[in-house]
Amino acid sequence: MSDLKFNRVAFIGFGLIGSSLARVMKRDGLAAEIAVCARTKKTLETARRLGLCDKATHDPAEAVAAADLVMVCTPLGAYEAVAKVFGPALSAGTIVSDVGSVKRAAARDLAPHLREGVHLVPGHPVAGTEHSGVDAGFADLFKDRWCILTPQADTDREAVKKITGLWQAAGMKVEIMDADHHDRVLAMTSHLPHLIAYSIVDTATALEEELQKEVVKFSAGGFRDFTRIAASDPVMWRDIMLANRQAILDILGRFNEDLTGLQRAIRRGEGDKLHEAFSRAQKIRLGVIDAKQD
Ligand code: NAP
Repeated sequence: MSDLKFNRVAFIGFGLIGSSLARVMKRDGLAAEIAVCARTKKTLETARRLGLCDKATHDPAEAVAAADLVMVCTPLGAYEAVAKVFGPALSAGTIVSDVGSVKRAAARDLAPHLREGVHLVPGHPVAGTEHSGVDAGFADLFKDRWCILTPQADTDREAVKKITGLWQAAGMKVEIMDADHHDRVLAMTSHLPHLIAYSIVDTATALEEELQKEVVKFSAGGFRDFTRIAASDPVMWRDIMLANRQAILDILGRFNEDLTGLQRAIRRGEGDKLHEAFSRAQKIRLGVIDAKQD
């Protein structure tokens, strides 16, 4: 465990994901000092009150001073602006990592602002809830989930090893992947389902008032599960949709075709086609349960 320890860790953004990782680091003594940067006073005060940081600041450059690890945990849309500010304040040898849900855009927005000798190891802990903010975090969030790292082939091996060890300490299984591949896979497993959930729930908001009340009252029929997903932070998801635009549009095109196929089968009364499609989908669910990702 000793070579896993960092001297000073700076969190840029300290909500659900950042504060959960800080809780792990405090629990396991993985950082001698933790500095936190967030926009609002409320978040910084809460981080202090919960004993999750040794320094709290609004200034990303101040947070990263003398840090050997910088963990970017803001929504993706803020990456470029914060990197521009903290980049010049980094020391050679510092590892910069992140937790953003789209990896090509993360590297695109961070890398140009990092000086030579700084090691960029982009990462995505595939774990979360529909809640946001520092109060929503908890150390067990990452347990038994996957973390995907997307370093370049020439990224410093020791840096990749340290970030791998950190997420393993949080209870995650770590896989290294190409950033574009990550973005295509996550477009299907996470981004499209969120888009569909937002869209279905939004359809309900456009119903006449009486019908809307009935939808809420009888929501256990399936709608309820979509409302849970659609309760996720709108800023974070706006940024994900824009950052992974192409992969999401590609998979959305296929989804629309398949949905039209089901629509046609319903209109024509083709029960065998519906049964076939639903049976294939049921098998996928069994696979998810087998992989212990349910
Ligand atoms: P969150 O709970 O909403 O926290 C976001 C944090 O970023 C807050 O502390 C916020 O500060 C800070 N922030 C926002 N804009 C900023 C700026 N311009 N400068 C400095 N700080 C800024 O978000 P989260 O759920 O932890 O998500 C963070 C990242 O993790 C996102 O990139 C997301 O793609 C990724 N991710 C999320 C999940 C999930 O399920 N939530 C899962 C995996 C990965 P204030 O609190 O002061 O407003």
